Amino acid sequence: MKFAAVRIFIAAAIVASFVGACLTPKTVQAQSSGLIYVVQKDDTLYSISQYFHTSTLRIQLTNYLTDADVINPGKRLIIPGFNDLSGTLTPVKIGIGDTALSLMRQSRSNSASFTRINFLTSASAIVVGQKLFTISKEASNNIRVPVTDSGLTGLELAAKNNTNPWTMAEYNATIGPWYLIPNDILFLPSSSGSSSNEILPGVEEITATGLSQGKTLALIAKGSGAAAMAGNLNFTVTDISKEQEEQNATPPVVSAIAPTKNLAAPLTFFQQTDGSAEALQGVPRMSVPGAATLTLTTKDSDGHSYSIDQNLMIKAMDYGFDSPMQVSDNVIDPKVTEPEDAFVFNLVAPFTETKLWNGAFTPPTTTPTCLTDTFGRLRSFNQSNWIYYHSGFDFCGGNGDKIFAAADGTVIYTGELTVRGNATIIDHGHGLYTGYYHQSKIEVSKGQKVTAGQEIGLIGSTGRVTGPHLHLDVFVGGVQVDPTEWLNGTIP
Ligand SMILES: [Zn+2]
Repeated sequence: MKFAAVRIFIAAAIVASFVGACLTPKTVQAQSSGLIYVVQKDDTLYSISQYFHTSTLRIQLTNYLTDADVINPGKRLIIPGFNDLSGTLTPVKIGIGDTALSLMRQSRSNSASFTRINFLTSASAIVVGQKLFTISKEASNNIRVPVTDSGLTGLELAAKNNTNPWTMAEYNATIGPWYLIPNDILFLPSSSGSSSNEILPGVEEITATGLSQGKTLALIAKGSGAAAMAGNLNFTVTDISKEQEEQNATPPVVSAIAPTKNLAAPLTFFQQTDGSAEALQGVPRMSVPGAATLTLTTKDSDGHSYSIDQNLMIKAMDYGFDSPMQVSDNVIDPKVTEPEDAFVFNLVAPFTETKLWNGAFTPPTTTPTCLTDTFGRLRSFNQSNWIYYHSGFDFCGGNGDKIFAAADGTVIYTGELTVRGNATIIDHGHGLYTGYYHQSKIEVSKGQKVTAGQEIGLIGSTGRVTGPHLHLDVFVGGVQVDPTEWLNGTIP
């Protein structure tokens, strides 16, 4: 009985607000006054013409400018070709948590004009870091309201935010308060003046660095709920091990038609001392430049789950290539190399909770500036095509020279492998591992704790080598990465 009364009350409230909305006199639509661009520092007429696919001459004609006119920052220009639109263009840089729809709603503009002024073919094609424009009609101070993926209705969401469900629907141009899309982002006018910019509940900001082939991607999230996030990164990786006709060219080219495979990397966020949360993941050397997809999910205190999907742009790196090399046939035989690789990648797959490294790596040899080979270089063995790449750093050294641990950690493997020779692998926590190969002598054992700079073995020439040296591998989230950033300490 009581429940029925509540239902009748809600129905009456909906009818009342609907009638109210119909009775409100509509304001007369203002005559369009054109699309205004406010000149920014470093802008030129040419750069502005490029943003909006027009010409410098058309901008000059529309704005009655002569060649002698200087366009200073702050000058307001009418952008030709959008006479039917009005408002001021605001540059926005796409961040994690932004969707075309959320940007459009935040600036109170409509989706048709948003895709038009940005020359987008699809609203889902936006990529983190991309510079786009929104049209501002009024100073908007909004509260960001993410929609849960577990069946929250507009009525519940409005009640949670102390607002009228119809106000919310109208503000976001949704069909009605009952019509919500899971993981959509809505906005509400902020009456108190303090606006929330939470991307996900308890997460205020997420930044991504190291989005390049072979580098370490660091995702840093701020807010009380940051450490509770989980995620996934999906890369497309070129399989260069399958010989392609185009791969015999010198200098080598990675064929655009080479076969690819997908790599789904789970992300684990961990709390840092400054309160933010961080997830690290190696970007595969052979990842296809372009979009990788990121999914992040979290739960609020009520147990509702929220998620966002985002495109990230992977930059191409030119690591170069090595002179063709000659080695004994068995160390390039896939029957030998494939099981050994599988064995090693299985060893470095676990994510250990405790972070053991601290800052920059300690140089692993006595002459760390002497390198005979660097990361990522394409390789040819025994007249093969360029179907290999170098997975780490080769440090100079003679037989019997000392090898040091790069950081604190736990030895998880020591032993003799066909390609890697006498090898030691150390776990530093949070998915970070280092590997030391081709040793003449291993001086530590499995399970042993080591500290940064501790002597762990001697340089040698065991395994697939052309002379004595130390090969150092760095694994992050099961992917070999460029050791440069780890040695110079640029990764937090
Ligand atoms: Zn090497």
